[in-house]
Amino acid sequence: MKISVIGTGYVGLVTGVSLAMIGNQVVCIGRNISKINQINKGNPPFSEPELENLLKKVTREGRLVASNQFEKEVGKSEITIIAVGTPTVDEKIDLSQIKNVSTQIGRVLNRKKNYHVVVVKSTVVPGTTEGLVAATIEKISGLKRGEFGLCMNPEFLREGCAVEDAMKPDRIVIGQLDKKSGKVVANIYKKFKCPKIFVNIKTAELIKYSANALFATMISYSNEIARIAEKVGGIDVVDVWRGVHLDNRLSPRVGSLPKKNGRYFPQFLSYIFSGCGYGGSCFPKDTKAITNFARENKIETPVLNGVVKINTSQPLRLVHLLKKTVGEIKGKKITVLGLTFKPDTDDLRESPAIPVIEELIKNKAKVSVHDPLAYLKGPRKELENLKIHYHQKIEKAVFGAEAVIIVTAWSEYKKLTPSFFIKLMKDPVIIDGRRIFSVDKFLKKGIKFQAIGYKNPLI
Ligand code: NAD
Repeated sequence: MKISVIGTGYVGLVTGVSLAMIGNQVVCIGRNISKINQINKGNPPFSEPELENLLKKVTREGRLVASNQFEKEVGKSEITIIAVGTPTVDEKIDLSQIKNVSTQIGRVLNRKKNYHVVVVKSTVVPGTTEGLVAATIEKISGLKRGEFGLCMNPEFLREGCAVEDAMKPDRIVIGQLDKKSGKVVANIYKKFKCPKIFVNIKTAELIKYSANALFATMISYSNEIARIAEKVGGIDVVDVWRGVHLDNRLSPRVGSLPKKNGRYFPQFLSYIFSGCGYGGSCFPKDTKAITNFARENKIETPVLNGVVKINTSQPLRLVHLLKKTVGEIKGKKITVLGLTFKPDTDDLRESPAIPVIEELIKNKAKVSVHDPLAYLKGPRKELENLKIHYHQKIEKAVFGAEAVIIVTAWSEYKKLTPSFFIKLMKDPVIIDGRRIFSVDKFLKKGIKFQAIGYKNPLI
């Protein structure tokens, strides 16, 4: 099918590539001409494993092009997927990009003769697709819903494995205005053999928030338990989670599933684990958007309010642990290892590293940072106001530091040994925000070690 995808960000581009890979003809529509040229040469504007290979393939074979010719390209396509940003501004979802795109689509449909299906893939609060999107298109195009198709098809990809998620979806949720629209959307995914769930549009919108909020809840819950462990003393929260994870309801003893020591450990368990909080382009904004949506609709959400509250303060606990360990940090070199919100992505949006660095700077520390990907391709706007020293090599970042804070669980950091730090630091202090190190190994070597969910007897 001929598909136009609006937006060339993570979701737009990865969706476009995956749909082209399974035989559709895709045009990705963006606004930034240099980004469009880059995509047409097969170079993704952001880092994502496997994306470059597939993008090169589909652009070379002419199955995907990028363009800024909105009206022309939408007009030529049979189906338009909206994948623009829905940021949270002042705790509330900002739907201005969705409104603009709906207006632009309305103009095209005003002149178009053939049936056209509009699909919202962006994450939007319940009621947006049938409200704002459909109403705007109706007003501008003069058509009534039904004369054009309408679906909400939430995206579940995870940055860092977005291509794999898009090429092997667990399920495809199709919120349909009517059967005719749903059938068109199901058709573009026909090569994917996963379950396809047909629901109404508002249900599809809420499925997306419920999924993200569930994972965010598990993370904040784990961090709340970590706070108890830290305060009580003598408890390591990693042991707590080991004991919890081995419940047969969480890690079943089943035959044919992938297993370790006779148990199947679902990925879900990685969210029931303590750290310095969730970040990225989705969990923070989506939990805030849905709680605000509930508040505006006079629905109480004490659980989700707590999830957001814990997550906001969690990164600062690393600086708290640091100060408890070294005292005054003014003028001291403190090294932050990891800037991205999780490994295998260069995404800095809402990364816990940002509030950690801001707090260190507020306390007049000299901040050095290392990240394998974050600034590899040049300076980043998320960091432009932060006075920090960037390093390409971990050794240089750590050399002479008074303390090292682990914010991102990059695999290269997991390999660092106590002797690595002893060699480069005078009196090593490690604050492990992701629980990547074995406490015993570090303590045995005389390193001052603190971590989320761990009560160091030295303190
Ligand atoms: P993004 O900000 O990376 O990309 C959005 C793109 O849309 C931007 O490049 C922007 O310039 C473009 N855009 C906006 N208006 C446009 C217009 N009128 N014409 C052409 N292009 C336009 O956002 P993203 O991370 O790709 O997320 C998009 C949506 O998908 C959001 O609602 C997000 O919540 C949701 N989502 C994101 C992820 C993720 O992991 N990033 C996962 C699932 C769902």
